[in-house]
Amino acid sequence: MDSPAHPATMPGMRSFHHPGHALHSPRFFLMRGQVHANFEVPARADSLLAGLATLGMEPELTAPATLEQLGTVHSTGYLEFLEKVAPAWAALPNAGPEVVANTFPTADALASGGRRPGGIVGQIGWYTADTSCPIGPHTWEASIGAAGCALAAAAEAAAGRSAYALCRPPGHHTYAGRAGGHCYINNAALAVQALRAAGARRVAVLDIDSHHGNGTQGIFWNRSDVLTVSVHGDPNGYYPWFTGYAEETGGQGGENCNLNMPLALGTADTGWLAAVEQGTQAVRAFGADALVVSLGFDASEHEPLNALNVTPEGFARAGALISGLGLPSAIIQEGGYNVALLGSLLARFLTGWDGR
Ligand SMILES: [Zn+2]
Repeated sequence: MDSPAHPATMPGMRSFHHPGHALHSPRFFLMRGQVHANFEVPARADSLLAGLATLGMEPELTAPATLEQLGTVHSTGYLEFLEKVAPAWAALPNAGPEVVANTFPTADALASGGRRPGGIVGQIGWYTADTSCPIGPHTWEASIGAAGCALAAAAEAAAGRSAYALCRPPGHHTYAGRAGGHCYINNAALAVQALRAAGARRVAVLDIDSHHGNGTQGIFWNRSDVLTVSVHGDPNGYYPWFTGYAEETGGQGGENCNLNMPLALGTADTGWLAAVEQGTQAVRAFGADALVVSLGFDASEHEPLNALNVTPEGFARAGALISGLGLPSAIIQEGGYNVALLGSLLARFLTGWDGR
């Protein structure tokens, strides 16, 4: 970090924030059969704001995303569910403070006629992928605020610049019609769609959160105009378990437009940075006009549930590698749960990005 006597400034990069995130303060987190405190807490954003301040960056406040904007990525049914489920849940007898599913449609059910049920409890299983996305009374407001930040960063990228969106809650585990893993609206996917609408012919997503960007992969699975690249911990031993393997290279129409680089748990800077660099090479080969970075810090060696062992210097070097593409970029905040360190890791990444 720079000393206070020589404060760093990043006058060239705008950043965006929405204070509504603080209304979303999930509690529930189920791990190995035990309920724990949720890691995705409002203090994460405070730490990130403090990190920006060390660089002289003051995030601008943004308007929440509109339903029309959200609809460029998400299904109408899902958006209606997310907006309205909390009060419906609260009206149930003996309801807990947050919406959490206890049943999910299995592949067998879906393959033999399974469908969305009419009742609210069943719909919660339909529209969520796991128990790690508890929905509270203000989750909707927080999520559309975060989405607005991503769209503001995308507008900067559409104008040929790069910008940072302090999105909370994060988004990369959300599919078109399903929440999951602390995520409710796919902020990165919204940024991609906004860039495409603004004229970018080809857009790439480079996801360096330690978890596979499964929702983003799912949204663009059949698309040849969007390359999705994810560097993450091996899903054989790490969330989201069912996707993130190297053989997932894209669906019909999107062949070879998805690149997963699962890393052995415990991988440190050398292996992680080699994968990030390989990701940048794929972005370059794809011929992207613009980039969306899904920036998580949970690959940190100091992460509470760490799978990878990336140092602060590693994040600075990743910033330099990705910035070296020279592409206008919307940098979207994803995960990272070491509240004490998040801000300094963000500052290191952005300082690396800026070539210092
Ligand atoms: Zn993550």
